[in-house]
Amino acid sequence: MSLPFTLLIDPVAVESERSTFDDTFHEVDSAAPALRVGELSTQRGDGIFETLSVVNGHPHEVEPHISRLSNSAQICDLPAPNPAQWRAAIAYAVTRLPHQGELALKFVLSRGVESGPAPTAWLHATRAADFSAVRQNGVRVVTLDRGYPRGVAERAPWLLMGAKTLSYAINMAALREAHHRGADDTIFLTTDGYVMEGPTSSVILRAGGVYVTPAPSGAILHGTTQQSLFEYLVARGEKVEYRDVTVDELRHADAAWLVSSVRLAVAVTTLDGEPMNTDAQLTDAFNAYLLGRTH
Ligand code: PLP
Repeated sequence: MSLPFTLLIDPVAVESERSTFDDTFHEVDSAAPALRVGELSTQRGDGIFETLSVVNGHPHEVEPHISRLSNSAQICDLPAPNPAQWRAAIAYAVTRLPHQGELALKFVLSRGVESGPAPTAWLHATRAADFSAVRQNGVRVVTLDRGYPRGVAERAPWLLMGAKTLSYAINMAALREAHHRGADDTIFLTTDGYVMEGPTSSVILRAGGVYVTPAPSGAILHGTTQQSLFEYLVARGEKVEYRDVTVDELRHADAAWLVSSVRLAVAVTTLDGEPMNTDAQLTDAFNAYLLGRTH
């Protein structure tokens, strides 16, 4: 039950007819070396990952995370992950983790060692940072140009835009740029002025009483937290919509949030230095729902 917790996983082909996977992963000492120097994940960022939250012993949105891993694998031409194996590894990890508090559970599928025969995979759990203040107070956001027009994912699939790859150097650079500009976070725009996503989050806004998120066209990730919040809103009789959103529409929204698996929902309080409308009660309700999920 100690953190960090690490499992090394020997990926099993998706066609396998195995019924048990317990012998395909094993715990390792998180402080000891575990990867080979030739790992393409470290050499080239050539791999994919997911991060889900575990709250009071409940892993959140396991199936959406596993299906997004499969989607990322397809985009990156990686061998298809075996969903039953990942389900088993996550379930095993959860039995070994503390059943109190918020944890971040990251799982990685790498192309493996250069000229090696097989992909490598692992799972790593840590205690989540304390996001209570930011959930309460929101974030100041600046918009940043992502450098591509709308439709780039279809024209240039080798940019891997819709995959959650390990190459997050650009996302981290954008966050540093936001900090240089006196903000806490950023929202990427296409060169033609459409809202995309944050470097580690999806964007939801409320416009004219409808909850809207940019259509996951292939250039952005389809966020599991956004999908979960849309289910919550639909169950409460609210209207939700996937569509293109211009930056002007975002500026004039009734409210806007950045949402992601571990930080959950945070209100956008300023956009490019201008105050945004916020709804503290709704933000609290979003986070209470997200924290209270049992699946
Ligand atoms: N978009 C990007 C680029 C992300 O990195 C993330 C999460 O890390 C998200 C969106 C939100 O996805 P999720 O809600 O599944 O965490």
